[in-house]
Amino acid sequence: MSKRQAIVIGSGFGGLAAAIRLQAAGVQTQLFEQRDKPGGRAYVYEEQGFVFDAGPTVVTVPQVIEELFELSGKKMSDYIELLPVHPFYRLFWEDGEIFNYDNDETKLLAEIGRRNPADVQGYKDYLEYAEKVYEEGYVKLGHVPFLKFWDMIKVSPQLLKLKAHRPVYKTISHYMKDDKTRQAMSFNSLLIGGNPFEISSVYTLIHPLEKKFGVHFPKGGTHALVRALVKLFEDIGGQAHVSAPIERIVTHNDRTIGVKVKGQKDMVPADIVVSNADIYHTYSSLLRGVPSADRKTKAMQRKDFSMSLFVIYFGTNKRWDNLTHHNIMFGNRYKGLLDDIFRSGQLAEDFSIYLHAPCETDPSLAPEGHYSYYALAPVPNMKVAQIDWEDEAPRYCEKILDYLERFYMPGLKDSIKVKSHFSPRDFETELNAIHGSAFSLTPSLQQSAYFRTHNRDSAIDGLYFVGAGTHPGAGIPGVIGSAKATCSVIGQDLNLPMH
Ligand SMILES: Cc1cc2nc3c(=O)[nH]c(=O)nc-3n(C[C@H](O)[C@H](O)[C@H](O)COP(=O)(O)OP(=O)(O)OC[C@H]3O[C@@H](n4cnc5c(N)ncnc54)[C@H](O)[C@@H]3O)c2cc1C
Repeated sequence: MSKRQAIVIGSGFGGLAAAIRLQAAGVQTQLFEQRDKPGGRAYVYEEQGFVFDAGPTVVTVPQVIEELFELSGKKMSDYIELLPVHPFYRLFWEDGEIFNYDNDETKLLAEIGRRNPADVQGYKDYLEYAEKVYEEGYVKLGHVPFLKFWDMIKVSPQLLKLKAHRPVYKTISHYMKDDKTRQAMSFNSLLIGGNPFEISSVYTLIHPLEKKFGVHFPKGGTHALVRALVKLFEDIGGQAHVSAPIERIVTHNDRTIGVKVKGQKDMVPADIVVSNADIYHTYSSLLRGVPSADRKTKAMQRKDFSMSLFVIYFGTNKRWDNLTHHNIMFGNRYKGLLDDIFRSGQLAEDFSIYLHAPCETDPSLAPEGHYSYYALAPVPNMKVAQIDWEDEAPRYCEKILDYLERFYMPGLKDSIKVKSHFSPRDFETELNAIHGSAFSLTPSLQQSAYFRTHNRDSAIDGLYFVGAGTHPGAGIPGVIGSAKATCSVIGQDLNLPMH
């Protein structure tokens, strides 16, 4: 029998992980990426010696990455070094309050107790709760496929007993009373695109997850990790192509038979096609005209997609002592601002910012005496708010820089040597992301597990999905987990030994 052939569309962490798993299992795999560099949301910009990772910067659960090297018979340390980051985050408020968020229990309890002594016990009780959710939601379910409704019914009782259907913020408020501690404990669901006032308490598992596995940063930046995974894939015999947009998934009698690369005459044949591209783009564009895909396109138009982000990349000749690697700057409004981002249909005048200062961990990411940064503000996606970003982006960019200069980075604007920005419009045009969503489908209860895009298409044989739009969802551990779930289904379907 000739060797099985697979094609993976898109080189996000989910696509890369799936390609590695398939190739390691003996399936001849080709990866096609439309952009000129791999990584998807983890793209990289380089200008005048400044290196700017475009997206993910908080790497947790390194074990899921290490597993990819191990199952390929390689050692991660030969490819990439992951540096620990401390504190995990430094949180700032406009009134000058600071909260260092770390996994050092004594220091964390001191931060919480300083704000409200009663919250120390509240936090301990909360941690106990979140650890149970972590066991049920991550250890047992983080990388299993939900293809049948029954798969979900089987696991629901435990999560229901934990009242995991309640919103994250409500659960946290039950245990802790201080407003800022509540913000400190709940903001991290935004890192996977969820509004803490709406998404289910399943996502309280992020806190124990970070505590157990730490926060890391790849030496050389997140894109060094992307390059390491591409090298691993190629070292075991896979083929990666960049600047190779797929314009069509070719089907015959409800089965995938290959893909059409834009500008190439012949179809590239394959038994299996795994799409890591945006799910809506996959159905509405790559499979347009296939009746089952057209139905899914329609159904998906009614779904909720996550918020978008506005990101400014800037390089300076100045460093600020008050900053650490990961900084969160909260505005005066928390719930009100999140309502505006997720619901209201307008761009708020205020914002909360995540500021990435990677040179605090790895000075090689900027020329000597210089520093790379990015500032990110969550903003509504383009369905929630119809904003003309061409027009708005330069104004919004200046507003954020003025704000940072005023509260946290005196002398910022004069110190800037290079600067660029990425708006919701760019998420749509550069990444084919519907409504410019940064994290695909919102991780609401109605759009999780069985109700999220299935790892295997129900109507087209040979078509599979990985990435943020599938179970378990966005974030590096999430999308790498989705590749494990998807490849386990492919293994069953093709009777392949899949790790
Ligand atoms: C600014 C930002 C910061 C973030 N920070 C963190 C963080 O600190 N930690 C964390 O864990 N997560 C973070 N996330 C979330 C995380 O980055 C994503 O959930 C994850 O990287 C998405 O991976 P994915 O596998 O879904 O693929 P994506 O990264 O979405 O990649 C999909 C790829 O498919 C390609 N593609 C699309 N259409 C086609 C086509 N027709 N042909 C060929 N290729 C195509 C795209 O170009 C893209 O490269 C962040 C996200 C953003 C945007």
